[in-house]
Amino acid sequence: MVRAKKNELKVAEKFDKKALVALLSLDKEEDMATLFARAYAAKTQCIGNSVYLRGLIEFSNICTKNCYYCGIRCANKNVIRYELTDKEVTKAVDFAWKNRYGSVVLQSGEQQSARFAQRITTLLRSIKQHTHNELGITLSCGEQSVETYKEWFEAGAHRYLLRIETSGKDLYRKIHPDDLLHSFEKRMEAICNLQKIGYQTGTGVMIGLPFQTVDDLADDLLFFKKINVDMVGMGPYLEHHETPLYAHCQSLLPLSVRFELTLKMIAALRLLMPDINIAATTALQVIDPMGREKAVQAGANIIMPNMTTVEVRSQYQIYENKPGIYDDAEISKSKLEANLQQAGIEIGYNKWGDSKHFKGNSP
Ligand code: SAM
Ligand code: SF4
Repeated sequence: MVRAKKNELKVAEKFDKKALVALLSLDKEEDMATLFARAYAAKTQCIGNSVYLRGLIEFSNICTKNCYYCGIRCANKNVIRYELTDKEVTKAVDFAWKNRYGSVVLQSGEQQSARFAQRITTLLRSIKQHTHNELGITLSCGEQSVETYKEWFEAGAHRYLLRIETSGKDLYRKIHPDDLLHSFEKRMEAICNLQKIGYQTGTGVMIGLPFQTVDDLADDLLFFKKINVDMVGMGPYLEHHETPLYAHCQSLLPLSVRFELTLKMIAALRLLMPDINIAATTALQVIDPMGREKAVQAGANIIMPNMTTVEVRSQYQIYENKPGIYDDAEISKSKLEANLQQAGIEIGYNKWGDSKHFKGNSP
């Protein structure tokens, strides 16, 4: 243990499960503030204090899967399905490029068709060419074959986000249908394949799920370390009334507790893996308008401002009360910049902001 100075939190230097559970269980304001300050200092010391932006393009809400928690699951017939046109994607990419965002993320529901794979490949090539390779590209399009992941990598994507959602197999089975399309083992294999191909690989979990315990969350943190990820995006679980998991909404932690728990997860992860990229996710902003900025102050270093065209934003509601669905990219940008400035946070414009942790394809 680090010997605590007066008013300073005791934090185990060796983060075993017991120490992580203790950090995640902190409930006094001042203890949490000390944890966040330590995590912020660890970040600044290891990777600097800049925040990097990834313009988020919610490319399509068409999904063949039925995750029990997600509002755009295939079985939700109230969703109007869309796929952005090339022109719409280019418009969003141009906005990110001209506003010096450094990177974009193409995110979508999961489709495993050859047509979909080809469409993404073509888009990747055209974005790279159009922006003279100045924009970094992250993909978040679910589980795909090794061949598709390779094809997309060769076409210019160099980072991929695929959340494990929970590292506990039993909990995973409770929040997904019990079939081959939603297999924990296949998701794990997909994450491994991404690492082997050479992507900077990101994963993550939802925090405050029904049935989830603090022990589960500590295991999630140890899981990130064990599989040696380069990036993590984790946010609070937010219920959606058109999903099966909504049946358990009475048993959920209050939103404010889920919010605090997410900040503690971010801070603990920053101490555990100081050189990775950690996202301050939009789900935090649903609970607190300054949620992403607070996450940055607890150790996160990536923000993903939404670039999706306003016409379809409301159809990408994975959870309810998604913020800014009527804001266009310009409004999202000015709100974010004003908030970051207010919080004294510096933006790393025009930089890819790659994970310092990434050492090439060596999982
Ligand atoms: N379809 C791809 C996938 O599942 O990997 C990428 C898009 S999916 C919408 C991105 C993430 O949204 C999921 O990994 C999941 O963690 C998160 N998500 C879905 N429903 C959510 C909810 N109700 N609350 C919080 N996060 C949710
Ligand atoms: Fe589809 Fe992703 Fe939602 Fe699951 S989380 S239903 S794969 S969009």
